[in-house]
Amino acid sequence: MTSTVDAAVVGSGPNGLAAAVTLARAGLRVEMHEAADVVGGGLRCQSYFDGDIRHDVCSAVHPMAAASPFFREFDLTARGVELLAPEVGYAHPLDDGRAGLAFPDLDATCDHLGEDGPRWRQLMEPLLQHSTGLVDFFMGGQRSLPDDLTAPLLLAARLLPRRLLRGFRGDVAPALLTGVAAHAVGRLPTLASDAVALLLGHLAHGAGWPLPRGGSERIAHVMADDLRAHGGTIHTGSRITSLGELRHARAVLLDTGPGQLLDLAGDRLPSLYARQLRRFRYGPGAAKADFLVSEPIPWTNPEVGRAGTVHLGGSHTAIARQEGLTVRGTPTGEPFVLLVDPAVTDPGRARDGRRPVWAYAHVPNGDPRDPVALVRSRIEKYAPGFGDTVLAARGVPARDLDTYNPNYVGGDIGAGAMTLYQSLMRPVARFDPWRTPLPDVFLCSASTPPGPGVHGMCGHLAALSALRHRFGIRRAPSLEPVASAAAR
Ligand SMILES: Cc1cc2nc3c(=O)[nH]c(=O)nc-3n(C[C@H](O)[C@H](O)[C@H](O)COP(=O)(O)OP(=O)(O)OC[C@H]3O[C@@H](n4cnc5c(N)ncnc54)[C@H](O)[C@@H]3O)c2cc1C
Repeated sequence: MTSTVDAAVVGSGPNGLAAAVTLARAGLRVEMHEAADVVGGGLRCQSYFDGDIRHDVCSAVHPMAAASPFFREFDLTARGVELLAPEVGYAHPLDDGRAGLAFPDLDATCDHLGEDGPRWRQLMEPLLQHSTGLVDFFMGGQRSLPDDLTAPLLLAARLLPRRLLRGFRGDVAPALLTGVAAHAVGRLPTLASDAVALLLGHLAHGAGWPLPRGGSERIAHVMADDLRAHGGTIHTGSRITSLGELRHARAVLLDTGPGQLLDLAGDRLPSLYARQLRRFRYGPGAAKADFLVSEPIPWTNPEVGRAGTVHLGGSHTAIARQEGLTVRGTPTGEPFVLLVDPAVTDPGRARDGRRPVWAYAHVPNGDPRDPVALVRSRIEKYAPGFGDTVLAARGVPARDLDTYNPNYVGGDIGAGAMTLYQSLMRPVARFDPWRTPLPDVFLCSASTPPGPGVHGMCGHLAALSALRHRFGIRRAPSLEPVASAAAR
C-alpha cells in the first residue's frame, strides 16, 4: 500500500521543484511525480548528436532565475551553480550590418547607442535603482504591493503613455528594445509586451542575462538535491493520469496547464470553474532548432558574437509585422528568432571544435513546419556561411512540442497567451489563482501568475497558498542553503 504523504507535486519543471522545495522546507512530507525520465521540465538538457555536447532542450538564459525572490533566497551561487554573465547581454543585428548591443554596463550601452543613449538611460536608470521593488512587484503575481512603492509608479509612468519607442531618433535602439518586447510572444506593441521589455530590458544592466555553467539542468539538479535533503522523494517516469492516483496525499500541486487539471480531476470540478478553465487561451508557438556546429557563428558584425543572446528580426517595424502575422496564424518565411551560442559565454560547452547552437522561431500555434531550414536561413541573413559550419541539426515543430511537454499546448512556451488580462488572471480570474475549488488541489505551473520563465515563483506562491489553506501554516519557510543558515 502507498504510504501517506502531506503533498504530492505533479511535474518537476522549475515551478514544480520550487513548490516541492517550499513545502519540504516547511516540514511536510513531499513526493514528486515526473512523467519524463529526468527532472527539470523546461530546465532539461540533452545530448542530441554527441555524447559530450549538452543542448538546452528549453530554457537557456536566466535573467529571472538571477533576479526572482525565490532564487534570491534559494541562492543558486552558494549551491555551486555559476551564473555566467556574457560580455554583451543581448545583441540585435540589423539588415545593413549595424547592431544594437545591450552591455551589462548601462553607460557602455548608452555610449554605444549614441544619440539614443540618453533616452535609453532615461528609461532604464530609474528602474535599475528600484530593481528589487520592480522585480518583486512583477514576480509576486501583482497581488501585493512591494515595500518599494516607487517601482510600480515608475513602471506606470513608462507604460501608460504608450510611447515607449517614441523618444528614440535612430533605428537601433527601437529594434533592440522591440527584440526584448518580443519575448512576450504576441502582438506588438501592447501594454504586456512593453512591460516585458522594461522588466527584462533593465535586468540586462542589473542582475544580468546569465547562463548557468554547464547548462540549465544544473539549476534543476540543485533544486532536486535540496528537495531530497529535506526528505522529499522524486519518481521519474511517473505520469499521473488521474487525481485518484494521489489519494494518499493531503494536498496535490499540479505543475500542469488548465487542460490537464480538467483531465486529471474528471467530474470533480464545479462546472463554472471548469467552463472558465476551458476558456483559457494559448498564444503563438515556438519551433525549436538545435545545431551542432564546427565554429563560432560567422556574424557579419563581429560584435554580435560577444552576446549571450541574439535576437534575429531586423527593424522594430519588421518584428511587429512578423509577430502580428504569427498571432493571426499566418506562417511567415522570416519569423522572429532567438539564438544562443552557449560556448560564447561558457567555453566548456564546446568540445574538440564542436559546439551547440540553440534557437527557436516564433510561429503560429500548432505550426507543423520543421524549423531547421527556416531558422538556418534567418541566421544566414546575418551570418553568411553559417550553413557551412553545421555538422548536424534537429528541429521540433511547434505542433510537436506538447508531445515532449504537455504544458506547451500547440508549442506555446508561455503556457498560455501573455495578453494583459491573462498575465494577471491565469488561468482564471481569482485573487488566489493557485487555489482551485477542490480544497486539496492547487495549480503551480507557468499557467498561473507570474507566468512563464524560470523564476520558480508560480510554484513558490502556490506552495505558500497550500501551506496556508491546507495545513494552517502561515509563515513562509526559509529557502536558504542549510550551510548558510547554520553559519548564522
Ligand atoms: C524552447 C523553449 C525555450 C525557452 N527559453 C527560456 C529561457 O531561455 N529562459 C527562461 O526563463 N524561460 C525559457 N523558457 C520558458 C521556461 O522553460 C518555462 O516557462 C518554464 O520551464 C515553466 O516551468 P513550469 O515548472 O511551469 O513547467 P515546465 O518546465 O513545463 O515543467 C512541467 C513538467 O511537468 C511534467 N508533467 C506534465 N504533466 C505531467 C503529468 N501528468 N504527470 C507527471 N508529470 C507531468 C512535464 O513532463 C514537465 O517536466 C523556454 C521554453 C521553451 C520550451
